[in-house]
Amino acid sequence: MAARILIAEDDYTVATNLFTYFEHQGFDVEVVYNGQAALHRCSVERFDIVLLDLGLPGLDGLVFLQRLRRELRVATPVLVLSARSDLSDKLAGFEHGADDYVIKPFALAEVEARVRALLQRARGDAFVDPVRRLGTLSFDSAEHTARVGEVPVRLTPKAAQLLELLLRRPGQLVRRQEIEQALWGSDVPHPDALRSQVHALRKALGDAGFDGIDTTHGVGYRIVARTP
Ligand code: CA
Repeated sequence: MAARILIAEDDYTVATNLFTYFEHQGFDVEVVYNGQAALHRCSVERFDIVLLDLGLPGLDGLVFLQRLRRELRVATPVLVLSARSDLSDKLAGFEHGADDYVIKPFALAEVEARVRALLQRARGDAFVDPVRRLGTLSFDSAEHTARVGEVPVRLTPKAAQLLELLLRRPGQLVRRQEIEQALWGSDVPHPDALRSQVHALRKALGDAGFDGIDTTHGVGYRIVARTP
């Protein structure tokens, strides 16, 4: 069954981006725009994870968190979405029972990775192998490091996200819109940004002896295990 996510975020654009992205990934997603609504939903429904903006109108995110844990006694994992400026005092979030946080602006792929990690931990299978393999290529999604055989591959954070995304569906075409959305949300820095990341990834992998990223021009990319 699809994991249920509650998004509590008053920024309409951020909320919509998260909603669209997670729904697309097969999650069952609901959005609320203030703290009271979030608390109400958590009192009547069971969610698998809550994505919580701290700066919420009505009932502040930290107050929500406190009441969720202390009054409702709900242990649902909470991933805090925080602007950096909020962070110093908001690390208090952890004292109030947050499980993890991401800094805004964030890449949706980063949020997804943390959501999946929290869901796994909550299901008690935190020790599943984080390494994805394709032929001689391996990628450690916990460490964000890649190897071809024994040769380490140097990757920028974006190239690592890109590689992880492609490795989730080896052999399948991943559309460029989906990749852009995962890497940059709605703020794609320029039209060629993805192409430069693919180029960098291909070069890094190529230098280590792996040549398996195919382009379908104008459509997307796929990764394959190339047998020499
Ligand atoms: Ca806010």
